[in-house]
Amino acid sequence: MKNEHKILIIGGGFAGVKCAQKLSKQHLPEGTQIRIVSNREHFEYHGALYRVAAGNTPLEVCFPLREIIDTQKVDIIHDTVTKIEKKKNQVKGASGSTYRYDTLVIALGAQTIYFGIPGLRENAHGMKSIDRAIGLKNHIIEAIESCAHSKEGKETCGTNFVVVGGGATGVEVAGELVEYAKKLSTMHGNDPSNVHVDLVEAQNRILGLMPEEFAKKMHRRLQDLGINVMTDTAITESEAQGVLLKGKNMESKIAAKTVIWTAGVRANALIEEAGFTLGRGRKAVVCKHLHAQGHKNIFMAGDVAQTTYSGMAQTALYDGAYIADAISRTLSGRALSPYKPRGVLYAVPVGPGWAGASVGSLNMYGRIGWWVRRLLDLIVFIKIAPLDKAWRAFGAKHEAGELCDHCKKEE
Ligand SMILES: Cc1cc2nc3c(=O)[nH]c(=O)nc-3n(C[C@H](O)[C@H](O)[C@H](O)COP(=O)(O)OP(=O)(O)OC[C@H]3O[C@@H](n4cnc5c(N)ncnc54)[C@H](O)[C@@H]3O)c2cc1C
Repeated sequence: MKNEHKILIIGGGFAGVKCAQKLSKQHLPEGTQIRIVSNREHFEYHGALYRVAAGNTPLEVCFPLREIIDTQKVDIIHDTVTKIEKKKNQVKGASGSTYRYDTLVIALGAQTIYFGIPGLRENAHGMKSIDRAIGLKNHIIEAIESCAHSKEGKETCGTNFVVVGGGATGVEVAGELVEYAKKLSTMHGNDPSNVHVDLVEAQNRILGLMPEEFAKKMHRRLQDLGINVMTDTAITESEAQGVLLKGKNMESKIAAKTVIWTAGVRANALIEEAGFTLGRGRKAVVCKHLHAQGHKNIFMAGDVAQTTYSGMAQTALYDGAYIADAISRTLSGRALSPYKPRGVLYAVPVGPGWAGASVGSLNMYGRIGWWVRRLLDLIVFIKIAPLDKAWRAFGAKHEAGELCDHCKKEE
């Protein structure tokens, strides 16, 4: 009798795409069905979104799923998952469709949270997707343009920017933003020295997950670029024209038309709604084979799984590949090898052509760090896309405004 095992992957990001790609290359029993359901028709490379916000092309962050997944072997379905019904072995989509599975891979990634801070959701810009990065870029252009004709004082003018969150995203956005805003200011006849960027971090240091020496060096680099780094300071309210801050012994208000929120993420809320056991960051607790606790036919991958290095693209790719292998072994009755967390390489850009990279005990800064970062970008592209497409994305240097067809459709 024909095997009709249904493998369903939900989420077309790093982990989901890698899992689908690897599965499509495995010798699975005849009749095995592989489907991937994602709410976007394209894959997004988050690692370069900061450059999109600062005017670079979105071409380097967008790959249509159909160009990177073998559609002869994998059905790609464009739908938004609304519910995971694990007791019924099925998933519901916003289209009204029901997707049944024998094996489920949950790769839905993370989502932004605002910790209930008043006004933040309404007023702050985010960095979690291409459309949000483009929205931010457009807003920056408008804010700077408005200054050219404005009679407002410098304080409320659009040249003040507040980046909230001293993690890797906040640091790279702040570094790129300051140069970009100065360039735009000059273009619009404003004095570039009026550009002011604050980076606000609630902890006592930036880059809390990275080695302390490394973080100190990055802190100094931000200061050298003229960025005001405020640690031990939390945002308590956000308004259209500024933010309220609370530090150890101070409360203050910063006037700014642009607030960028990079500080809050959690695992996709659908896994909590489905009743999986959750741990830190509301990620799913997983067993040694990345199964969700208590569910041998459900795997958790990437940002939704509580693993040592979860929260990084490199980990999500690794998880996707591991799970594809585990599924193939299960279907052919072979033993599974345990999941071994793989260390990650940190490379954080701070301003054009400069990055800090931490590889094991070796730290590199400046141009060399930048090349390490670019190499890492290239490795990720090659892991996701065919060589020609990876190379095209790596070399994409067009100015703002160009969108690939898929991103255009979805804007
Ligand atoms: C701005 C930014 C910069 C980053 N920079 C780096 C970096 O430099 N290096 C690094 O290693 N990591 C970086 N990361 C982290 C990295 O992007 C994540 O760890 C990685 O994306 C996790 O992969 P994933 O597959 O778990 O989730 P994702 O890649 O986020 O994929 C989730 C997928 O699920 C889809 N989806 C979500 N909800 C639904 C739904 N309801 N129905 C259907 N589909 C859905 C999404 O559209 C997406 O395709 C960065 C993240 C951000 C936000």
